[in-house]
Amino acid sequence: MNEAKYIWMDGELIDWKDAKVHILTHTVHYGNAVFEGTRAYQTEDGLAIFRLDDHCKRLFNSAKIVAIKPNMDYETVRQAHIEVLRSNGFTGNVYMRPLIFLGYGQMGVHHVKAPVRTAVAAWEWGAYLGDEGLENGIKVCTSSITRNPNRSTFGKAKAAANYLNSQMAKYEAIENGFEEALMLDENGFAAEGTGECLFIVRDGVLISPPNDNSLESITQDTILELAKDANIPIERRNITRDEIYICDEAFFTGTAAEVTPINSLDHRVVGNGARGPMTEQLQSAYFDVVFGRNEKYKHYLTYI
Ligand code: PMP
Repeated sequence: MNEAKYIWMDGELIDWKDAKVHILTHTVHYGNAVFEGTRAYQTEDGLAIFRLDDHCKRLFNSAKIVAIKPNMDYETVRQAHIEVLRSNGFTGNVYMRPLIFLGYGQMGVHHVKAPVRTAVAAWEWGAYLGDEGLENGIKVCTSSITRNPNRSTFGKAKAAANYLNSQMAKYEAIENGFEEALMLDENGFAAEGTGECLFIVRDGVLISPPNDNSLESITQDTILELAKDANIPIERRNITRDEIYICDEAFFTGTAAEVTPINSLDHRVVGNGARGPMTEQLQSAYFDVVFGRNEKYKHYLTYI
């Protein structure tokens, strides 16, 4: 773990090593918490957080969905991101992890009396699926784990509890020699990766499933905007696993994963088995945006 100096907790910056909780912290037992994964990049004009407001909005929406009443207001939490970056003096690119969780003081499944707490941590973190993955793509398997069903979980929330599913899918994928898992929805359509949304390319058309069975992804949204700018035809429709076997290109998007090509699915080589031309075009356009090299999207950056 790339330790930093300070973590923000409930209004205060505290030493990284002191950012601790009691063993009877409600969230540790029952899994109700919401979080974000947000990135800040070293641009020419200094460190800048990408789409900070969109991440903060999703964090507060997630809390609403899982019936957690935040103990800090929106503006305070937004500002905490900036304070954490300023105080730590990072020199590389940074991953940020705001977390609203249920603390110590009340046990039992009925969660509403547990005290709510908020933290924002940040550390320097490179490519989530590896630099090699960004360039040459990753090996993906279709998971035996179905994506969290809408009848019993809340997929619009970036909720800690949703990630048991993702963890099991990721574990299975890695143990079986793959780098990432693709989860299907209850009807057998491609839903999402364990922390990414899916895109495929067929005959020049960029296709991504609707968000009925995936998180409403901020990176996916950015890629769709960039594709529109480049006049790439877009379809939002269901995709089956065998359609991915025969597509021209496939890639995953996520704040952590950025734009990572998929070079094979279930041992079927995707396209030419390398990063495809449209993937490369969109990946490079994405990096231009997050590194502040595209004027049109400068409003997405919060400079520190
Ligand atoms: N799906 C899941 C399950 C995720 O955890 C993530 C990462 N937050 C995504 C999709 C991609 O979302 P975003 O682009 O907003 O990071």
